Amino acid sequence: GDISAVLLCIDAVNRLKTLKLTNCIHITGVGLEPLRGSTIIEQIDLSLVGDHQSPNISPKPPISCEFVLPILDSIIEREGCSLRHVQFPSVWSEGGKSIQFEEFRIRYNEMLDNRGVGCAKCNTNLPPGDLSWIGERIVQNFTCYECLKHFCITCTNDDGEDVLGHCHNCKKGYCTDCQKSKGCICCDFEYCVDCRDFTDCSGCDAVFCEECIASGNEHSKCYECEGRFCNEFCAKYEISTHCDSCKKSCCNNCHAEYHQDEDWPSCNRCRDCFCDDCNEKKGILYAIQMCDSCYTSYCGDCREFVTFEGDEDVACEEDEENKNCAGCVQLAGLILDEKLLRLRNESSK
Ligand SMILES: [Zn+2]
Ligand SMILES: [Zn+2]
Ligand SMILES: [Zn+2]
Ligand SMILES: [Zn+2]
Ligand SMILES: [Zn+2]
Ligand SMILES: [Zn+2]
Ligand SMILES: [Zn+2]
Ligand SMILES: [Zn+2]
Repeated sequence: GDISAVLLCIDAVNRLKTLKLTNCIHITGVGLEPLRGSTIIEQIDLSLVGDHQSPNISPKPPISCEFVLPILDSIIEREGCSLRHVQFPSVWSEGGKSIQFEEFRIRYNEMLDNRGVGCAKCNTNLPPGDLSWIGERIVQNFTCYECLKHFCITCTNDDGEDVLGHCHNCKKGYCTDCQKSKGCICCDFEYCVDCRDFTDCSGCDAVFCEECIASGNEHSKCYECEGRFCNEFCAKYEISTHCDSCKKSCCNNCHAEYHQDEDWPSCNRCRDCFCDDCNEKKGILYAIQMCDSCYTSYCGDCREFVTFEGDEDVACEEDEENKNCAGCVQLAGLILDEKLLRLRNESSK
């Protein structure tokens, strides 16, 4: 095929250090034959996609273990093999890995184990403990896709970030010198910064990936400043004003700045709280109102209100009208509140 002709033409077996089969989605792998036995090749990327793209290709690409693995075997068998990174097609990890691949994985792991490489930063022998170079997810561990350096999983850079990150989108590992990655506080996935956009939490150092921002489920947003607050911590301490009707929230800063810290109406019984807009829309029957006698607020569902028209005969002269919660109207006779008694007589005329 085309690949084979190109590899022969450039004398790939003796010259090519890195092979990336970007966009070669129709290959079966048979065209890699000219690479057989190369001791020069250091990296083979069979993901078939470009940098920072998801390797989950649909329909499934025909690239096959049957053609590719014998060539990889011919490379890792050689004395002086230089191969240090293979990015396998993600289709090989779907629907149960083949026995062929499982057996190759063991040989490939052994080859790198025998080479005796250490972390480029701390020199710890790799892989650490009982971990392996190619794990169950068939992604090569402890290796940066870009610089091909090997790193352990505990080393951090000067900023305290793990030196090596693995991206949930492109499924590639990068060291922080080659590509920064960030972990989203909502979904907990790690992504390269070139694979996903991130938004900072308005209250702490945490970040949200663009998918979590779009879904909006896992964070609280202030409707005034549009700041996002992580639900881990910040939403609880930076936002104390929520509307139970339209579900909007206002951060403490904005609440102080734009609402003079004046609480939105809240019902003393069911504890529902409505923003001023929602409360107005609820209408006189269902809005949260404050009783002019006991100065307690209730929603219409929790307690009925009785409104009296005001006139000179009513004690409270400034008020146009006087609303009393049902509780106060009933209690009035007992506590002998002069104003209420008069109001009551008034209303029964
Ligand atoms: Zn290390
Ligand atoms: Zn690197
Ligand atoms: Zn996320
Ligand atoms: Zn990525
Ligand atoms: Zn936060
Ligand atoms: Zn705000
Ligand atoms: Zn509201
Ligand atoms: Zn209520």
